[in-house]
Amino acid sequence: MVSHLFFYQLMFLGLLWLCVMLHDAWPNECPGGEQRPSKPLPPPRKRSSAPKPFPGLTRTPPCAACEQVHEHGPRPPGCPPPRMAPTRGRPRHVDTSQHFCPHPDCAYRGWVGLGNISANGHPSGGPWRQLYCTGCRGYFQETHGTPLHGKRVAPEKLVWAVGALAEGLGIRAVARVFEVDPNTVLQWLVEVADHATAFSRYFLHDVRVTQVQLDELFALLSAVQAGAVSEAEALTRLSRSPHWVWAAIDPVTKLLLTIDVGDRTLAMAQSVVHQVVQVLAPGCVPLFLTDGFKEYTTALLTHFGQWVQPPRRQDKGPAPKLRWMPLPGLLYAQVIKTVRRRRLVRVCHRVVFGTLEAVQQVLAACGWQINTAFVERLNLTIRQHVAAIGRRVTTLCKGEEGLRQQLALYHCYYNFCLPHASLRQLLPQPEPTHGSGSAKRWQPRTPAMAAGLTDHVWTLREVLLFRVPPWPQPAGV
Ligand SMILES: [Zn+2]
Repeated sequence: MVSHLFFYQLMFLGLLWLCVMLHDAWPNECPGGEQRPSKPLPPPRKRSSAPKPFPGLTRTPPCAACEQVHEHGPRPPGCPPPRMAPTRGRPRHVDTSQHFCPHPDCAYRGWVGLGNISANGHPSGGPWRQLYCTGCRGYFQETHGTPLHGKRVAPEKLVWAVGALAEGLGIRAVARVFEVDPNTVLQWLVEVADHATAFSRYFLHDVRVTQVQLDELFALLSAVQAGAVSEAEALTRLSRSPHWVWAAIDPVTKLLLTIDVGDRTLAMAQSVVHQVVQVLAPGCVPLFLTDGFKEYTTALLTHFGQWVQPPRRQDKGPAPKLRWMPLPGLLYAQVIKTVRRRRLVRVCHRVVFGTLEAVQQVLAACGWQINTAFVERLNLTIRQHVAAIGRRVTTLCKGEEGLRQQLALYHCYYNFCLPHASLRQLLPQPEPTHGSGSAKRWQPRTPAMAAGLTDHVWTLREVLLFRVPPWPQPAGV
């Protein structure tokens, strides 16, 4: 009886002792447990804070736009015909230097400033001038090829209605204000958008910039700010909705390089970067700044990369394969914003291509840094855009195509017609005004003027009446 109990207790103690001994003798591998290393462990491997150098790609990422077209925009059919000397007769008073002959069989078709166009007065007292081409002895109207051509509506009414659209009024509102049918306004918008696209393409090329900010903004942003839509609801809508507005802007001149609408995908990032490359001068590699959207890296690498032969590591064996690497001059930094409850709580930046010093050097030229101030300015730019864009989306919601047309109009209006407050220049001499107001001291400037693309603030009427030549004209005409 007693011996049994004693025996069990002894066995229990023995087992306990064995467990304790084994536990001590066993090499301790449990990371969470109490560690008593018998020999000093190697120091924990330090994760280097410096980013690893980009290893390169073995093939270029595909860009649909790059594969589609190899030619850059429309090309002239050949050399321009000889310049025409002014003929005898009355001296020409009307400036026709911006006009070109539209007749398909004329040798002078599409060429500007060759002296072949003369003004011919207003036939039957109409509002528009008739122009005459000495090359083909053909006549055409000064509105040929513009949205004002062949319209019965008073030109002023059309210009004001388009101005209202450009300022963000919806189609229905414009129809009410100007007492026309909404379908008529929509028709105007379609034509004006085509014209504005051609206008922007004609002027926006070979642009030299030092910085480009890329952003994709959600068109519902204004509704989120107003508290009408909860953020979660907005986000679920985001994932389904194609209404992302993509913008590329030069923060120095404020020039809007491109603006487009589409999904938040790699294909769209590729398309937007491709459009930026089309606008930039060949060989111009600016500093790119974006948010943390990862597809930008691929898109930038596609368009600003080159094949590089990596150095051999061993003497023998085949040479290593070519690697697609970013251009040595490419600088790209991301500004990653953390927003909680509609408030910016944290900003961190990450240099993806290039060095932090090089990025800071580019920004220092403008007295800027990558910091919160930069992001806030970025946000401000977004809000300025969305104030015009967002409202139209909520009032219209015509789908992607309708939004694209409004953006094409806005793109042109913003770059050429709207003077930007931060771009104004002090006049060397204050100019007296005609009225009783104080003298004019500031020269208003648009982003297109700051970028050197044009020399004056365009009125919308001028833009709508500008006959866009079918191909780029030689410089100095
Ligand atoms: Zn002609």
